[in-house]
Amino acid sequence: MNFMDEIVALCKRRGFIYPGSDIYGGLANTWDYGPYGVQLKKNILDDWWKTFIEDRDDMMGLDSGILMNPKVWEASGHLGNFSDPLMDCKSCKNRVRADHLIEKSTGKLADGMSNEELFEAIIKENIKCPYCGKSEWTKPRDFQMMFKTYQGVLEDTASEIYLRPETAQGIFVNFKNILDSTRARIPFGVGQYGKSFRNEITPGNFIFRTREFEQLEIEYFVHPDEVDEKFDEWIESFKIWFHSLGVSASKLRLRWHSKEELSHYSSKTVDFEYEYPFGWGELMGIAHRGDYDLSRHMQFSSVKMQYKDPVTNEAYIPHTVEPALGLTRTLLIVLLEAYEQEDLGDGSSRTVLHLPAKLAPIQVAVFPLQKKLNDKGAKELYGQLKSHFRAEYDDSGAIGKRYRRQDEIGTPFCITFDFDSIEDESVTVRCRDTMEQERVKVEDLIAYLNKSLS
Ligand code: ATP
Repeated sequence: MNFMDEIVALCKRRGFIYPGSDIYGGLANTWDYGPYGVQLKKNILDDWWKTFIEDRDDMMGLDSGILMNPKVWEASGHLGNFSDPLMDCKSCKNRVRADHLIEKSTGKLADGMSNEELFEAIIKENIKCPYCGKSEWTKPRDFQMMFKTYQGVLEDTASEIYLRPETAQGIFVNFKNILDSTRARIPFGVGQYGKSFRNEITPGNFIFRTREFEQLEIEYFVHPDEVDEKFDEWIESFKIWFHSLGVSASKLRLRWHSKEELSHYSSKTVDFEYEYPFGWGELMGIAHRGDYDLSRHMQFSSVKMQYKDPVTNEAYIPHTVEPALGLTRTLLIVLLEAYEQEDLGDGSSRTVLHLPAKLAPIQVAVFPLQKKLNDKGAKELYGQLKSHFRAEYDDSGAIGKRYRRQDEIGTPFCITFDFDSIEDESVTVRCRDTMEQERVKVEDLIAYLNKSLS
């Protein structure tokens, strides 16, 4: 089994992530988050929210709708530009992304090339169909990536509506509301998380690229003269945050977009890339969007988006720095980093998730050595711990098996309540990473765990 398959298997076996619509044979590239997966996802989200919104004086949150007036997507450029160049193999009828095929076959970047240029490159390099080996291509055509649906009972063009392909636009269209209803002063930022939908041509690699996914996006509004400084600050803040999630520095790199590659709205963009088992790929992007979005919404809605500085009286349209990342993609990286198939040196091995304590779905598991200890103090202890930590109680099977199960879901500490515990009011605390065991007085346990989990 390759590394990614091991992660996928663990996720299903231990209730992190299941294939979507599993009992009906699934639906390609959809995934459901099980009890531990949803908790892990929530813990990453909460940590992002606390770090970048709650703990900062210059940030606030927002929760805008998935469904928005289609004019939003006209103004943002998504209706015109949010498409991929697709072409069909005339021989086997498979459909491929022209730019990806060129990049794979030649190793050269094809971002920013027109459809004509893509076609020329494919002919010149004699690039063959990866499915049938022939080179009989149709010309590339743009394929709109937004999911279209209908609002109300009539399926006509007047009721056409889109599922949002990013959360960012909800922030821009509320910029004026936020300015008018809060004490916000430039520079300030707005963070939003939630589902986004893209009809991706090449979804795959487990939850790396899916058509329904979750994003964590920030729009940081600044004076045009301050953009570069704030841009660099955001890069540093995210480096620190990724480190706190257990991401190794050696697996993370910054990749600046070339001029040809930059999105239509951006004058400077850097991606944090991660070394996935299938190669380097994007984890997040930080983009300098200039005043593109606010200006476009001002033009399309006729609502003024200028900000007037209360001290200097200068009126201007703020520029925006956008640190945008996928929550589900971050979760994949957290799992990849935490996973270990550990050789125990005696011919046996164990699977363990070395999750940071702040992210572990369960922080403390409580085991009575035998079921008859349930009512002799074990359950009571569990009740006490549950009000301080994410805790779980397990009284079935051999202790060794219970440890292994908790190792696989990444629980940092297991506590065994045995027959001596009744007398000496102490329990055995076993550490996930070192597997060492220590006897700790029940009265010291909360302080001990607080210290160890921080
Ligand atoms: P990619 O190049 O991987 O398609 P992108 O540059 O189109 O990503 P952005 O529009 O910058 O992505 O979105 C911000 C972040 O949202 C990405 O860095 C990624 O973490 C996440 N993301 C984007 N598309 C998907 C997807 N289809 N599935 C999961 N996460 C995604």
